[in-house]
This record gives sequence, structure tokens and C-alpha cells, in this order.
Amino acid sequence: MPCQTNEELEELVSIAREVTKDGKTADYIPALGEADQNDLSVAIYHVENTCMSAGDIEKSFTLQSISKVLTLALVLMDHGESFVFDRVGMEPTGDPFNSIVKLETHENQRPLNPMINAGALAVSNMIKGTDKDEKLSRFLAFTKELTFNKDIKVCHEIASSEFENAWLNRSLCYFMKKDGIIDGDVEDLIDLYSKQCAVQMHSLDLAKIGAVFALDGKHPQTEKQIIPKDIARICKTFMVTCGMYNASGEFAIKVGIPAKSGVSGGIMGIVPYHFGIGIFGPSLDQKGNSIAGIKLLHLLSEKYELSIF
Ligand code: GLN
Repeated sequence: MPCQTNEELEELVSIAREVTKDGKTADYIPALGEADQNDLSVAIYHVENTCMSAGDIEKSFTLQSISKVLTLALVLMDHGESFVFDRVGMEPTGDPFNSIVKLETHENQRPLNPMINAGALAVSNMIKGTDKDEKLSRFLAFTKELTFNKDIKVCHEIASSEFENAWLNRSLCYFMKKDGIIDGDVEDLIDLYSKQCAVQMHSLDLAKIGAVFALDGKHPQTEKQIIPKDIARICKTFMVTCGMYNASGEFAIKVGIPAKSGVSGGIMGIVPYHFGIGIFGPSLDQKGNSIAGIKLLHLLSEKYELSIF
């Protein structure tokens, strides 16, 4: 059982915090660039409903790419595996998360996996709903159920900042529209995706979502099976193979737990049947992962032997 006390966790946070100066905040979404690069927080939510936390725990942040795990779970529940995986693949890419290259060169033009932007945009396009607002409200309701927090909402400033600058994501969409991978209005999809990425929460909320996955989709507090076990397993497997972008292989070796990061500096980690981890550290490494967040996960994994392998 890791960290008996918050003090133990605080100590690891202060060691990891030292590397925040070696990274930088994301600025291609201008509003994300305003985050304080030295921030670092961690929460651990145990499946027995105890929690511990350390660092700048009062700071909130947006999900960004972490939302891709949740939309994947939602569309798998909406449509089933064969519908979803006819439109998005299961293979890691080795390319940066927003790369367009493989859309052109991959044999059947499907995005390679749902954790890269192309795949995640295709997934958001599949969320059931009559329009983008209904799709977003279904996604928000799902997130509220997972966090057991009815106050979760979209940060509109960050959503607009992304929407106004999402030229590459628009390009990915038009590319996929040409090949029939997505349908409908591209601007509506970019609006939905920017808002899904801008859903805001605290490390503790994120740790709790991790705990739901740690329990194979069952909520530790309500004991409701929110996500079917098979779908939770698929999501966790994608997190292992593609969750840390093109750093997933090294992360699997050095840390060895299912995890998903976002360019806000959030990371959700899962230690199956034990706990979920929520981290926020907006200073990013070159691949777009929280530099101190990864350091902290290394420290935790080494000290408490968390690797699933
Ligand atoms: N909203 C971000 C984008 O599409 C998410 C990317 C990320 O977190 N890696 O660029």
C-alpha cells in the first residue's frame, strides 16, 4: 500500500517539483500557456474510498487528451466494438499526438488509435446525440457520474482558446471527412472536441475516475457498474500502449501502469484493484507529457513497486 501518510507523498512531490524548470507549458493553446509552470499536485483515490493528496491540490486543470479515454468508453457503450473499430484502429503510432502523416499512408486511412488527435476526433464524432450540444451534455453527465461530482464543468476560456487555434485538428477532420471516417459539420466537431478537452477538474476528481477504471468500471462510492468490464479493459489497454503518446513504451518500462496524459499537464494513472492517481503539473516535456508528473510516477512506482508487469 503506497504512502501511508500525506507527508510521505509531499516529500515525493517536492523531489519531482525540481524538474518543472526543465519543461514548459503548452502554448499552442494560448490559454494553457498561462498556467504556473511550478505547480504540481497529486491525489490517490483508493478503491476503498480513502484518499491522500499532496502539492497544489487546490488548482484545477482541464482534461485535454485525458478526455479521449472517456469518450472512447462512451462510444463503445453507445455503438459496440465493431462499429467503433471499423472507424479507428488499435495500434500505437510512434508519432506525435497531432501528426497527420499516418492518415495518408496507413492502408485503410483509419486513424491508428483513439488516443491520438485524429482517432479522438473520429471518436467524438461517434458520440450519440442529435447535435453537438446534446453530445457534450451526455459527455459531461458521464464525467459527473465518474467523478461523483455534479459541479464539473467546461472551462469556456480554454475551449475558445483551442477552438480559435485548432487549425491542425481541422485539417485532420477534413482529411477524415474525405475518406468517410467522420461525417457532419467539421466546425461543430471542433467545437465539441475543444469543449470535451476543456472539462475542468481537480486532481482528486481525476484520481477518482482512475479508481473507477481500477475497479473494472465499477464506481467505488456508488458501487454502480458505470462502464462495462470489457470496455474498461479496452480503455486501460489503450492507455498502456498509447496513453503517453510516443513516450508510451518508455513509460511502460519505467512506470508500468495504465496512464493517460493531456497537454494541460494532467495525468490519470491506474493501479488495478488498488487505486487511481490524478496528477497535475503543467510544465511539459518535449513529447507533451507533464515532466514532473512523469518523474513523480517514476518515484511512486519504484518505491511502491506499482508496475503491473
Ligand atoms: N486539446 C488538445 C489538442 O487537441 C489535446 C491534446 C493533448 O492533450 N495532447 O491539441
